[in-house]
Amino acid sequence: MTKRRCPHCNSAVDATTLVGEGTSAPDADDVNVCLYCAKVSVFTAYGLRLATDIEAAEFEEDPDVQLAVRTVETLILKNGLNDGL
Ligand SMILES: [Zn+2]
Repeated sequence: MTKRRCPHCNSAVDATTLVGEGTSAPDADDVNVCLYCAKVSVFTAYGLRLATDIEAAEFEEDPDVQLAVRTVETLILKNGLNDGL
């Protein structure tokens, strides 16, 4: 998989995990939740882009996206706690 960068935090996104239905390889317009900042972006053919205002509003209403964001936030929090021990 080609290296993509999160448009929010600029972290390299070099692996994806499928949430919901579809194929594991991301297609253009698939949603990405960054594993480093838990922010939502959208796959393009070549990388990731910020969601449009309309898309962002849709993601706020999408239970699958919200669950993915909460899951990533929990992972980030747990990792942060573990780093502190
Ligand atoms: Zn990020």
